[in-house]
Amino acid sequence: MTIEWDKAAAAVDAAERILLVTHLHPDGDAIGSLLGLRNALVERGKTPDAVVDGGVPPYLRFVPGSDQVRSTLVEGEWDLMISLDSSDEERTGAAGVYGRAHSKVVMNIDHHPTNTMFGSIYLVQPEAVSTTEVLYGWFEHIGLAISKDVALPLLVGLVTDTNAFRTSNVNARTLHLAQVFMESGASLTEVTARTVSSTPYNTVELWRSALQTVALEDGVISATITQDSLKQLKLVEPTDAGLIGFMISTDESRVAVVFKELADGRVELSFRSKPGFDVSQVALSLGGGGHKQASGATIAGPIEAARARVLPLLREVVRQGALVIR
Ligand code: 5GP
Ligand code: MN
Repeated sequence: MTIEWDKAAAAVDAAERILLVTHLHPDGDAIGSLLGLRNALVERGKTPDAVVDGGVPPYLRFVPGSDQVRSTLVEGEWDLMISLDSSDEERTGAAGVYGRAHSKVVMNIDHHPTNTMFGSIYLVQPEAVSTTEVLYGWFEHIGLAISKDVALPLLVGLVTDTNAFRTSNVNARTLHLAQVFMESGASLTEVTARTVSSTPYNTVELWRSALQTVALEDGVISATITQDSLKQLKLVEPTDAGLIGFMISTDESRVAVVFKELADGRVELSFRSKPGFDVSQVALSLGGGGHKQASGATIAGPIEAARARVLPLLREVVRQGALVIR
């Protein structure tokens, strides 16, 4: 899409006060890109503020710099706000709204093909497997040496967004980057153990109740997570990435969807698809976004209405596509 390496470097050099934001319900690439850039800026003598609504999820607190991430913004003025891994402004949450209103310039660093190109300086690269790959390309371009405290967060984004090098966009460069980050001191064993190979038991209990609702019809595998089951298990903000990853691994499915009932009655949708089927456009048409093989959106409830609205769209995706790997 748009890569403005030099304009981005000049904006950072010129800025005294820098604010870094990422997307709501941050995943490994959100926190990895937020802290990879934060730590690189700190090493260059800058003192950026990093913030995400609700702070860093506990399982990602091993990433260096996590203890410096704020969970709310109530005051401050910045020369430059940098948004990381967020395809639209709404995804940056309350922190993004506050930051935008109190920053002179907004830079947009991302890898989602559905990026709305908000802000005025862009490092948006849909072919990158993670936002941390975009960041590394920038560091490479400006000749920045990668320390361990930068390499580790960058590896976290690379590993989590590729589901440990298994997504269809993984290529030789992905593995080259992993090698560079490991040579800089990041442990792949630690990163995988703390992210893709880590699941709290109550999440498995949640899957048990969700799997009771699982259905496969016309290549679309679906499941529902209700507020009742979330409350029973005292789960406030669970990740269901593991469940949907398991669902799309079933041989007979082409597209997977999880419907999750939110406390306010809206329904959060998670989509996955096999290579050859594109769920990003459905997410975009529902006000969300993402990638061909992993996307999502939040729509009006109740669950039954959401199912009636979304399942026909997904069946259409199945009809339009064809399996790449049979
Ligand atoms: P997940 O199913 O893991 O929550 O989301 C998969 C991908 O879909 C995310 O990496 C993100 O790119 C995208 N995504 C999920 N929910 C939303 C949403 O509400 N808005 C946008 N723009 N993207 C979303
Ligand atoms: Mn990402």
